[in-house]
Amino acid sequence: MPSLHDRLAAVRARVDDAATSAGRDPAGVRLLLATKTQDAGTVLAAVVAATDLAAARGDDGAVLLGENRVQELVTKAPALAELVAAGRVEVHMIGNLQRNKINQMLPTVTGLETVDRVSLADALADRAARAGRSLDVMVQVNVSGEESKSGVAPSGAVALAHHVAALDGLRLTGFMTIGARSQDDGVVRAGFSRLRAIRDEVLHGGAPGTSAARELSMGMSTDLELAVAEGATIVRVGTAVFGERPAA
Ligand SMILES: *Cc1c(COP(=O)(O)O)cnc(C)c1O
Repeated sequence: MPSLHDRLAAVRARVDDAATSAGRDPAGVRLLLATKTQDAGTVLAAVVAATDLAAARGDDGAVLLGENRVQELVTKAPALAELVAAGRVEVHMIGNLQRNKINQMLPTVTGLETVDRVSLADALADRAARAGRSLDVMVQVNVSGEESKSGVAPSGAVALAHHVAALDGLRLTGFMTIGARSQDDGVVRAGFSRLRAIRDEVLHGGAPGTSAARELSMGMSTDLELAVAEGATIVRVGTAVFGERPAA
C-alpha cells in the first residue's frame, strides 16, 4: 500500500491538474483532510506528510483538517492542541452539529462548515460570544436535494447567509456542499455550479458581514475534479488519502 505521503501527493496532483485545466491557479485550492474514523496517530502522521508536501511547494499555510463528530474531535483534541495553538493546523467541523455539543466543540475548532438553519447559527453566535471569540462559519447547502443530505435548500441559502453574516460572534467565510450521488458528471457539476452562483450572489450583493464569504468547500475523493472545475477553494478528501473507512 502506498504511504500517506504518496497518496497525499497523488491527490494534490489531481487537484493541481484540475485547476490548471480550468485555467485556475492551483494555489487557490486547499485540501481539507477528512479524518473521521482515523485515530490521532494517523492524523498526526497525515499532518506531517501534508506539511512536508506543502513546504516542497513553497506553501507555508496551515494544514486543514475536518472532523464530523464532536466526540471524535474531543478525543483527538489533545494530540492536536499544540499544532492548533501554533497555527500549524486548522480544524473545521464538517458534520451535523447538535446545539448541545457546541461548547464541547468550540475550543478545538477554527471553523464550522455546516450551518444549515437559523437556530443553529443563533446558538453558535451566542456561545462564541460568551467564549469571547469569533467563529468562522460556512453555510451548508443541499444542492442535490437528496433527502439523505443535510443543508439548507438552495432557495433559502442567500437568506440564511445574510442572517449568519449579520450575527456578532460569527464570520461568514463561504459555502459548503456535498455533491450529488450520480454517475452523471453533468448533474454533479450543475450542483457545484449552483453553489458558486449562491456564493457570487452573496459576495457581490454587499450585505453587511458578507465581504469574506468567498470560500467554496466542495468536492470529495470521487468528484474533486468536477468541483475544482466549478470553482472549489477547498476540497475535502478522506478515502483517497486514508483508504477505505471500515463500515460503521
Ligand atoms: C467523509 C467526508 C468527506 C470525505 O469523503 P471521501 O469520499 O472519503 O473523500 C468529505 N466531506 C464530508 C462532509 C465528509 O463527511
